[in-house]
Amino acid sequence: MTSEPVLSVRDVGRVHPGGVTALAGVSLDIAAGEMVAVVGPSGSGKSTLLAIIGTLDRPTSGTVRIAGQDIATLTDRRLSALRAREIGFVFQQFHLTDGLSAVDNVATGLLYAGVPRRDRRERARHALARVGLSHRAGHRPPQLSGGERQRVAIARALVNRPSLVLADEPTGALDTATGQAVLGLLRRLNEEGTTIVLITHDRDIAAALPRQIEIRDGRLVRDVTGDPARDGVAGARR
Ligand code: ADP
Ligand code: MG
Repeated sequence: MTSEPVLSVRDVGRVHPGGVTALAGVSLDIAAGEMVAVVGPSGSGKSTLLAIIGTLDRPTSGTVRIAGQDIATLTDRRLSALRAREIGFVFQQFHLTDGLSAVDNVATGLLYAGVPRRDRRERARHALARVGLSHRAGHRPPQLSGGERQRVAIARALVNRPSLVLADEPTGALDTATGQAVLGLLRRLNEEGTTIVLITHDRDIAAALPRQIEIRDGRLVRDVTGDPARDGVAGARR
């Protein structure tokens, strides 16, 4: 691990085809081991920012560096390799394959990582154990609860041991108690060293995390770091 930010975003803009400006000059650094909440109204550019951070989308202006490397200098093929190695994704709607067992859904997280077929299931079982779902390994998603499905999706995101996990409203489709359990799991992953960026509509979830970023109209309008245990006292960042 170096002192360099895992992720450095500078003056990033994203104009979608058709002319919608989703991001209008966002700059931020995220260090290894951070857990950051991204909040803001619907349509403000949160998912666009997460997709750009995750190299699923490229900015139309500005630069993104991951582990010091400017992603604009990478071909799509090298970008895919970087993504497969370093980044895990979790989405609100889980994006699991209904016809595959939990363990095989998790194993799909290794398809582009160059892991030999015979090792994939073994690693997938281990990842399922980490999210407490060993006893559901053979179940298909339709046989699982919402919270269990999201835990399978988290296992898929972490099966390749990414340094960065990006979650877009991971509790958005879950009831409060189940959402809290999923959040607890992400917090534990973070305590074990994984950097996490999480979009949430839930004020309580955001307030409980060590750093909160707010996006409005494609701009970063707030970036606050504070110890949530310290009576809500927070210090402005830079
Ligand atoms: P949020 O996640 O905060 O709700 P998004 O990043 O999804 O916001 O969207 C930001 C803006 O960009 C919105 O106006 C949205 O309609 C627009 N947008 C998002 N994706 C696309 C796309 N693929 N093509 C055109 N416009 C898009
Ligand atoms: Mg969104």
